[in-house]
Amino acid sequence: MPTFLVTYWDTEDYISPPDAGSDDIVLTVARAAREAGLAACFCIHGEKVRSLVGRGRSDVIREIARHHDASLHYSHGSIHPTTCELMTTAGWEDGVAIALSREAPGFRFLESVFGRCTALTRHGTSFAAQIVRACALEGKAFWDSLVQVPESPVYWFCDALCFNSAVNYALDTAYRDDVPARCCTARRAARVVLRPSPSHRLQRLLGCALLRRPQPAA
Ligand SMILES: [Zn+2]
Repeated sequence: MPTFLVTYWDTEDYISPPDAGSDDIVLTVARAAREAGLAACFCIHGEKVRSLVGRGRSDVIREIARHHDASLHYSHGSIHPTTCELMTTAGWEDGVAIALSREAPGFRFLESVFGRCTALTRHGTSFAAQIVRACALEGKAFWDSLVQVPESPVYWFCDALCFNSAVNYALDTAYRDDVPARCCTARRAARVVLRPSPSHRLQRLLGCALLRRPQPAA
């Protein structure tokens, strides 16, 4: 029984000007992952995708659309009021409705740009059960849930498939020992090294096709 690993990358920056290179970093990581045989998942703010489209970065969009996976990192990122902040005065049903009104257009947008959007990824501490429920109604998973259950870091909550931060591979000693991954800093993305391990199967977030099965080491 192989261990399934998800390679997951944050993209974040939708503010810096084009010459800061943040779009190029995403492209570099996406290409490096593909060349290493990895199908990665990129969590992306709706604002970042609007920025990529507005800047004409079809190269970045095409690389993710063809080879990887996308998760919405909240449609409006940290722009206030955030979806989470709107929950402070909401109950259950109106909270779910607010979350849907805020994030469903983001799901549709990422689907239109990348061809798929498999999840919503927590941004900072933006989290509320109503948002998870909205994901369930949209058929999306929730990544980096703040809910902890004793049995597993992967569980169903509000009828949505949730992954909490205990699945973070940076904390996984098997991954750390078997699959060296020099995670990049913003300025060193071009030097990222990804080496698949024969004992691990690497895939995108939710069962999307494996690009290439890792070969046993010679
Ligand atoms: Zn983030």
